[in-house]
Amino acid sequence: MQPKDLTDNEAFKGFTNSACPFLPCHKGVAREFNCLFCYCPLIAYECPGPYQTYTDANGLTRKDCSACTLPHDGYLQSWNFIQRWLEYPQPWSGKPQTDPPVRRPRPPKPTDADEIHRRRREAGAAGDSGD
Ligand code: SF4
Repeated sequence: MQPKDLTDNEAFKGFTNSACPFLPCHKGVAREFNCLFCYCPLIAYECPGPYQTYTDANGLTRKDCSACTLPHDGYLQSWNFIQRWLEYPQPWSGKPQTDPPVRRPRPPKPTDADEIHRRRREAGAAGDSGD
């Protein structure tokens, strides 16, 4: 169990750095401006944000997230958005955003063979208990 499961205090889910000289760094944020994800955890993963791509000085393709408000718009909303997309993160392809935006990746459903292996492992572990 994570410590965050033990508290009703949700202050760790967001804050606004009012002293930051760049605030507001993304236009269009309607709710509290969440600075917690200033460096977006999804930068290296597939995401639904309206990013553009550019080539940096080292020749690498990168995301330009200037137009994205998803990690910033509301403390709880942006926290929940990031948590959902980190449930099954998939490395970014390096390609431009799709239209419509890429869907949230889901883990593959276990096959019957996976289930049989899982049951055998559990049965083997129970048999190893020395009872
Ligand atoms: S487009 Fe938005 S969600 Fe995607 S990496 Fe950039 S800031 Fe994060």
